Amino acid sequence: MKILIVEDEIKLGNYLKQGLNEAGFVVDTAVDGLDGQHLALTEKYDLIILDIMLPFIDGLKLIQTIREENIATPILLLSALDKTQDKVKGLDTGADDYLAKPFDFAELLARVRSLLRRKGKEIKQPNIEIGDLSVDLIKRVVSRNGKKIDLTNKEFLLLEFLLSYKGEVVTRSLIASNVWDINFDSDRNVIDTMVKRLRSKIDCGFEKKLIHTVRGIGYILELR
Ligand code: CA
Repeated sequence: MKILIVEDEIKLGNYLKQGLNEAGFVVDTAVDGLDGQHLALTEKYDLIILDIMLPFIDGLKLIQTIREENIATPILLLSALDKTQDKVKGLDTGADDYLAKPFDFAELLARVRSLLRRKGKEIKQPNIEIGDLSVDLIKRVVSRNGKKIDLTNKEFLLLEFLLSYKGEVVTRSLIASNVWDINFDSDRNVIDTMVKRLRSKIDCGFEKKLIHTVRGIGYILELR
């Protein structure tokens, strides 16, 4: 799952990014409201963590813009302004939860998971099935034909990403920017190797294959 952090305190932003990376999330960061707005409107995120006091565009205005664009991504608001009126204002504007600074990372992580669970229940089934493959996105359990498949964190992220584009071709650069944080254009082998490993776990030994190569472009996940 992919999270956007918009936070102008660089140190805090990096600390959150590192913690969320370690918890298995892909994280993009923006250090001002303008950059944050650009990313929020052009990329697909599962959750946005937003500071209120930001350069150029503040967090509350940013929420308004995001909701006006009909983007329903859960938003967790962060702010040093621990006043009831700001909390109310934030939630009224369209934030889903609010956390006052300073906070423990453990609490932030618990709230992130809670928002994602809620989103999973509301928007999509946390459990995805395609043929005899079953993926529980919240518990991160994958099985095929009832048999559990152990995946590494990156392999799971890759599978989750391919599933989100089920039946559509995804390019290597799209995979690179969503499953890894950086641009892997220069090293496509990394992606090919990872897909090969995932494929050997998901498809090997099964008659119907799920992950297919689209020559010169990328990959597609569908039952064939
Ligand atoms: Ca700030």
